Amino acid sequence: MKTSVQGYPRIGENREWKRALEAYWKEEITAAELQEQMKAIRLERLTRLEASGLDLVPTGDFSYYDHMLDTAFMFNLVPERFASLSGNELDQYFAAARGTSEAPAMEMTKWFDTNYHYIVPELEDSWVPDVTRNYPLEQYREAEAAGIKTKPVLVGPYTFMTLAKGLEAEHRDSCMSVLLSLYAKVIVELYEAGAPLIQLDEPALVTSLTREEAGQAAKWLQQLLDLVPKAPLQLQTYFESLTHWDLFAALPFHAFGLDLMYDDGDTLQQLRQHPPHQNAALAIGVIDGRNVWKSDLREAQQLVHSVQSLCPENQLILQPSCSLLHVPVSLKQEERFVEDLKQGMAFADEKLQELQLLKQVCTGAPESTLDDHQASLSRFRKRYPAAGDTSSEKLAMREPVFSRRAELQQARWQLPLLPTTTIGSLPQTTDMRKARTAYRRGELSAKRYRAMVEEKMQRWIKLQEDIGLDVLVHGEFERNDMVEFFGEKLDGMAVTQNGWVQSYGSRCVKPPLIYGAVSAPGSMTVSETAYAQSLTDRPVKGMLTGPVTILKWSFERSDVPKSVTAYQLAEALQQEVEALEEAGIGMIQIDEPALREGFPLKREKRAHYLDWAVNSFRAASAVAQPETQIHTHMCYSDFHDMIDAISAMDADVISIETSRSHGGLIQAFEDNTYDKGIGLGVYDIHSPRIPPVQEMTDMIERCLNVLPAFQFWVNPDCGLKTRNESETEAALRNMQQAAETVRETL
Ligand code: GLN
Ligand code: ZN
Repeated sequence: MKTSVQGYPRIGENREWKRALEAYWKEEITAAELQEQMKAIRLERLTRLEASGLDLVPTGDFSYYDHMLDTAFMFNLVPERFASLSGNELDQYFAAARGTSEAPAMEMTKWFDTNYHYIVPELEDSWVPDVTRNYPLEQYREAEAAGIKTKPVLVGPYTFMTLAKGLEAEHRDSCMSVLLSLYAKVIVELYEAGAPLIQLDEPALVTSLTREEAGQAAKWLQQLLDLVPKAPLQLQTYFESLTHWDLFAALPFHAFGLDLMYDDGDTLQQLRQHPPHQNAALAIGVIDGRNVWKSDLREAQQLVHSVQSLCPENQLILQPSCSLLHVPVSLKQEERFVEDLKQGMAFADEKLQELQLLKQVCTGAPESTLDDHQASLSRFRKRYPAAGDTSSEKLAMREPVFSRRAELQQARWQLPLLPTTTIGSLPQTTDMRKARTAYRRGELSAKRYRAMVEEKMQRWIKLQEDIGLDVLVHGEFERNDMVEFFGEKLDGMAVTQNGWVQSYGSRCVKPPLIYGAVSAPGSMTVSETAYAQSLTDRPVKGMLTGPVTILKWSFERSDVPKSVTAYQLAEALQQEVEALEEAGIGMIQIDEPALREGFPLKREKRAHYLDWAVNSFRAASAVAQPETQIHTHMCYSDFHDMIDAISAMDADVISIETSRSHGGLIQAFEDNTYDKGIGLGVYDIHSPRIPPVQEMTDMIERCLNVLPAFQFWVNPDCGLKTRNESETEAALRNMQQAAETVRETL
């Protein structure tokens, strides 16, 4: 029996990786220095993996930005707009990832249902297919030189092509044969270099494919196997079960890697019905690779036992359910957790230890080998029992219906047509960030910190009034992050000190933990919001993060259904809605940017998901008085298949991204006879560029062709915290002018 992992975090124990990249981007270090630092990080990482006792250490999963981008570059799939840029190869790579003033960045989107973002390859007609650099081979050789034999990891051809854009359906077959010949070249080189196993990641196979689609994928994979008959390939999937497993079981892969944790128990059943061909090794994911809790190794042991009857022991590989990329590196630096809680946790390095323990006990070590591990797990479970209170599950309904509420709200606010507002956060300047760090370290008093937040609010309330915005925000100056902020306040949640996970590029997030029943100990946002409201006669929107988003961007208990936790969060937020109303706040925005991301990969699970997701939002918001206007915000563009759900959320106003889809999304709302308020995100806040007035008036007018003016609001497409103050002011002034210009024509 062997142990392996599909991948491991790139960022380093202290985010050395992020620092190196950002130093290079700021031109503080040279390309050679960056290469040197990256090499050191790679080698440290390899040594760590090897020392943990892993039999198969991965290479090729390391990247300077993203592995999909690496694969595109490996195959010379560089969009033309970057190919002509001057500078070294690295600069071209980073230009594609991050954009330049002449060439907008390649699109970035979420990797399946995770918060990791990959770069979307662009299949252009001008592509000259070629293997320009075999990155996995370079990493393989580097490891070999350091005395470590590794397992190269590649994104598989099916997943790579499925996630790329610009390919028309009728060209899929020819594109695939080109890709397969490139893959074959890379794989042969790896094989000839002596790679003992080569992992092909094919998570796209676990989405809701029809039998025909799965059959096509299997055929393509067979073609690849025919091209490289001797190469020891492992087909690896994760995040769900492989619905049409029977189509793949007989393919002559050397190994199959399957997720036995996120599969609803399907995989074992499928394996029983259709065992893989006799010579195949089975790499089974029996340790949760995307959550931070200690594994129940007795349960894992059972699972391994069940598989053992299907596959000889020497052909079994134990591994996590997926790459460890999605969890923080090490618990070592977490000093603040109470011991019983920490005992219940496992980050990447602790999961490596679990794999070894599991292997020992599955290969003859006495049962007592697991005693210590299981004892600390029991202590954790006893201290923090999985709470299952679902009292909010009954359908929460806001009364009266929207049309009546809209009248009452209009009578209260007397807003003009196309009211203007923003999404919540205003620029987080360096002085504010520094002050927060100092405050946390105890170097700045609570009073001084608060005074600084108030000063920012004063300045920006004035500025928002001066610009002419109709509905103001307090600016979220007191918040580090929209989820972590609530994670710090809510009971049952905790934040880590160093639990960073890569989100996109060098950007890392620190998801909070939901370790117990969630509740609000007191009000969380009232004081700042009420202060801001006291400074103006215009309405200030209260600003909350919705239950689904808090859940999705945290590490939640794996032994509590997501819906239960979402309802607990909803109840806590409901209290906050009431507290804000009591303090005189009459508009409250409850952000749900992660609602779309939580969409299950399997289509048949979506209705259930939307049911509890929508209903928990309603549970949070339905207590609001009829005159209180509830807003929500989402910033992903693909809502076409969920307008009904959005409508069922029953928010009075929803703000959505409009700028990058050029208003195209609004059509979907029309087709579904959506009758509530829609905030048009008329400019892209991800860019420092100041949008001209005309561009935004055009956008608004396009939308007015589709739906009546009284439904629309005008706003940026997301929060402004990452922009600087002068850009923000200029952009908002233009936006206000655009709204006023169009208003005059109505
Ligand atoms: N209110 C949040 C902000 O403005 C919303 C952020 C988001 O949608 N990601 O920052
Ligand atoms: Zn947003």
